[in-house]
Amino acid sequence: MKGAVLYAPGDVRFEERDDPKIANPTDAVIRLSATCVCGSDLWDYRGINPVDQPTPMGHEYCGIVEEVGSDVSTVKPGQFVIGSFFASDNTCPHCRAGYQSSCQHRENVGANGAQAQLLRVPLADGTLVATPEVPGSDLVPSLLAASDVLGTGWWAAVAAGVRPGMTVAVVGDGAVGLLGVLSARQLGAERIIAMSRHEPRQKLAREYGATDIVTERGDDGVARITDLTDGVGADAVLECVGTSESMSQALRCTRPGGGVGVVGVPHGVSIDGQELFYSHVRVQGGPAPVRRFLPDLIDRIWTRQIDPGKVFDLTLPLAQVAEGYAAMDARRAIKTLLQP
Ligand SMILES: [Zn+2]
Repeated sequence: MKGAVLYAPGDVRFEERDDPKIANPTDAVIRLSATCVCGSDLWDYRGINPVDQPTPMGHEYCGIVEEVGSDVSTVKPGQFVIGSFFASDNTCPHCRAGYQSSCQHRENVGANGAQAQLLRVPLADGTLVATPEVPGSDLVPSLLAASDVLGTGWWAAVAAGVRPGMTVAVVGDGAVGLLGVLSARQLGAERIIAMSRHEPRQKLAREYGATDIVTERGDDGVARITDLTDGVGADAVLECVGTSESMSQALRCTRPGGGVGVVGVPHGVSIDGQELFYSHVRVQGGPAPVRRFLPDLIDRIWTRQIDPGKVFDLTLPLAQVAEGYAAMDARRAIKTLLQP
């Protein structure tokens, strides 16, 4: 089979890789219907995370089950399935509490490289969720989004404590931030302030339910949100970037008693203990327990209540994966869908 391999910053290649095989009786191998490039892949692509050796890339996936190990009982060949970037048994104490991305037996599916034609998924019973039937091609982008970017936006909203009637601010206008807007709307937020200075992203944010757009950043961005909320601050804030500036902005525009949902993978972020203490702000976050939300998200997509697939504004054959990364790196694309 063929797949994407990162050799060095800016150097991602489409090349021959070994076909994945069932390694453990709990594995499944799936034939990908679609995969994509994640904002977090860019940390590697830009050399911010060091690349020591040729690395298979990609951790977002959906497709048709090709083969299952002898212990797998909940999915079978021919089914269309979606899974998350962490494989989980879905039975350990952390999974049962809804934190499948902290599963005691978790495995990093991304290490197998999902930007490929085939993918081995460990712990298939606990990880994969099948759709009611094989979807039409129009639903595939949205189902793929559920694998990570929607699940992560949803988690941002849940972790921030979004409830009906709330005023929510979303820091970050990448695909996760935009789907954070969608998620906040689905969870009943009344007012959603999206922070974005890019016109096409502002437009999609509005389609997904944003009521206000703030183009300022840093101190000015905080002041603008304070203004818009009559000096109170937002009830819930979704931090979908992961930089020191975005985290500080998120914490400072949250009202006392409010919550920040942190899903941007932190790079160089530190939080001042005293400032946090006196802010009365709750912080929760971490790698999204996407598996917790998958059945619900698949249902909302299947019944066409939501269309998260709109975040894919560039679709390329997997063979052109290098252009898919380059376009996102240069912010010419919000998110690239790759067709194996
Ligand atoms: Zn577990």
